[in-house]
Amino acid sequence: MQKDKIKNIENKYYMPCFNRQNFCFTHGQGAVLYDAAGKEYIDFVAGIATNSLGYNHPAHVTAIAEQASKLIHISNIYYNEPQVRLIENLLKDTIFERVFLSNSGAEANECAVKLVRKYFYGRGEPRRKIITATGSFHGRTMATLTLTGQPKYSRPYAPLLPQIEYVPFNDMAALKAAVDEDTAAVMLETIQGENGVIEANYEYIVDAYALCKAKGALFVLDEIQTGVGRTGKLFSFEHFGIQPDVVTLAKGLGGGVPIGATLARGAVATAFQPGDHGSTFGGNPLACAAAAVVVDLLKNSNLLPQIEAKGEYLRNRLRGLKKYKWVCDLRGMGLMLGMELSQEVNGSEIVGKLAANGILLNCAGNNTLRFVPPYVITEEQIDKMYEVLEGIFASINL
Ligand code: PLP
Repeated sequence: MQKDKIKNIENKYYMPCFNRQNFCFTHGQGAVLYDAAGKEYIDFVAGIATNSLGYNHPAHVTAIAEQASKLIHISNIYYNEPQVRLIENLLKDTIFERVFLSNSGAEANECAVKLVRKYFYGRGEPRRKIITATGSFHGRTMATLTLTGQPKYSRPYAPLLPQIEYVPFNDMAALKAAVDEDTAAVMLETIQGENGVIEANYEYIVDAYALCKAKGALFVLDEIQTGVGRTGKLFSFEHFGIQPDVVTLAKGLGGGVPIGATLARGAVATAFQPGDHGSTFGGNPLACAAAAVVVDLLKNSNLLPQIEAKGEYLRNRLRGLKKYKWVCDLRGMGLMLGMELSQEVNGSEIVGKLAANGILLNCAGNNTLRFVPPYVITEEQIDKMYEVLEGIFASINL
């Protein structure tokens, strides 16, 4: 089908939620996407930090095809082998004891909220309050919209979930003032991806964790964007030497096949009893077979050190662009980097020019170019992107 026809049908029938860019891709290979005309695009978006293994990864595709030919879906009222292969490997050698599988980041966070509330309910403690940070992004369902500390997303949907409070990100004094005996949990991101790859300070995460421990509140990390190797470690909290009670994953976990996971340790891991939570599709054999490949590669190959090395390479190349006065900041970890541009230049226009030259990138938060390529990106592809971006910057006359 021609792109224009696709656009027209979409415009007519799909709810107008998205500002779609004028591209329609037909297939991909490695870190490269192709459109119907066969034009190549090196992908630094990766389905927004989701296509961790890139496109047409042989082990991923084989596992999905083999599982599809056997059993795509079976209810959670039965056992399924891909599910247990995934969860055993995912939890092995981690601090977590149990997991619940769902289909998206929002669902993984919904589960976390329910788990936290159920934990205190089960203990007969009245703690209800959950504290999140301003600028955070936790999803689009009613509970996760409420958790999201950006009113622009939630304003039209009031009334929101009660007992959710926001504190300024990276402000320890504010967090200290907010956590009290009614606080069930503090929920943070180590890097606010949607807000423009804003990193939490090391001390902030370490101190926030210690504060929760001291006050009897649970420490929940949303690792939906930062987890599954994105920062060079399986979980980004490993950079901070802490042990969160609950962590949520999604995005990169299935390598593009929808799956979310809520991991927990200690007594909160057994807060749910039969009937307390559920999902029709969550943890189905097809999604689990796909995620099992991602987790296996992260745990049993040199993928994590590669992510770290490629992240360092990308960062070093991007450092070369700091000579342009509109490059205000370069931040992030591993293969999750953000380059903030001053208001003198329009990030979205730069994204458009990059795309016209075969490079896909997107803009997040406040005029920040976000680099979250598939883990299979090569140094040559990074070089190519750099050359195109440098050419665009060099042509700007300010
Ligand atoms: N949490 C974080 C940190 C995210 O970045 C996102 C999505 O961008 C979500 C939650 C929501 O995930 P999903 O879109 O899969 O519901």
